[in-house]
Amino acid sequence: MQNFYAALEKNLPTPVQQIDEPEFAEQGVQLFLKRDDVIHPEISGNKWRKLKYNLLEAQRQGCDTVVTFGGAYSNHIAATAAACRLAGIKSVGIIRGEELNVSGNATLKKAAGDGMLLKFISRDDYRRKEAEDFLTELQLQYDKCFMIPEGGANAYGLQGCAEILKEVKEPFDVVCVACGTGTTMAGILTTASHNHQVIGFSALKGGAFLAEEARALLRKANKQAVAPCRVITDYHFGGYARHTAELIQFIYDFKTKYNIELDFAYTGKMLFGIYDLIQKGFFHSGTKILAIHTGGTQGNSSIGHYSPDVFQIP
Ligand SMILES: *Cc1c(COP(=O)(O)O)cnc(C)c1O
Repeated sequence: MQNFYAALEKNLPTPVQQIDEPEFAEQGVQLFLKRDDVIHPEISGNKWRKLKYNLLEAQRQGCDTVVTFGGAYSNHIAATAAACRLAGIKSVGIIRGEELNVSGNATLKKAAGDGMLLKFISRDDYRRKEAEDFLTELQLQYDKCFMIPEGGANAYGLQGCAEILKEVKEPFDVVCVACGTGTTMAGILTTASHNHQVIGFSALKGGAFLAEEARALLRKANKQAVAPCRVITDYHFGGYARHTAELIQFIYDFKTKYNIELDFAYTGKMLFGIYDLIQKGFFHSGTKILAIHTGGTQGNSSIGHYSPDVFQIP
């Protein structure tokens, strides 16, 4: 497994690329994109970061199976399945929702193809996924299994995400990151300094709780944050994994201009929000923004019908 990660780390540090628009210059703001989307073709962006120390810990404990949790469109499920295949560990995915049509769902199909055993549970049972008795019962079903919570939301996940900012040599003032569970933001907060500001963009409707969620993760991991942090909740586009034609158009235009694919569930919404906030004068003149491209483009295939050429990078 050490070798497995050594081989994968050949793409680190990921590049930082400037995104230059005339209206940014007008506002005196500079935007840079940390390209974690290019870490690995199958284990995208922040999922790779969050899995890294989880899988190393699984190995250290001598586990031969990883059990994790997610919804039917979860990038975390797809990434865990691929990473476990490459690392030679068995994987089990506990999927929210009754038996779904696996062949009609690109994420689940890929995970199953990577050897992940998919177990579907009701939404009610899924809600108990962090309960002690539920986890103990699950543990008994597998010999030497290592549990990774939904979205890699644990101290090992934070540890991997802490490495994102450590790689950045360019100066910046504000870090922007898309949030689902808030784990990536929490990891970033462990390495952001007091003169940085961290802004999370909620991919969910009503994501204001994510700031507290990140703080709770930091407490559990015994980590401190010194940078101020806030969560912007205005750019969820209807809720988790929801999207609008306007968002898809934005993603399309961005790809056409920069040849960078954004995903519709997270990074597309964040970049849309950043563009909008810059135009509204939200950032002081002179601000250097570092936005994290957390990857996730594998999920775009689920809405490829919007415009057939939107999500295919030549
Ligand atoms: C899962 C995901 C996120 C959310 O990360 P959290 O650590 O759960 O907040 C953000 N961006 C992309 C592309 C993702 O796949």
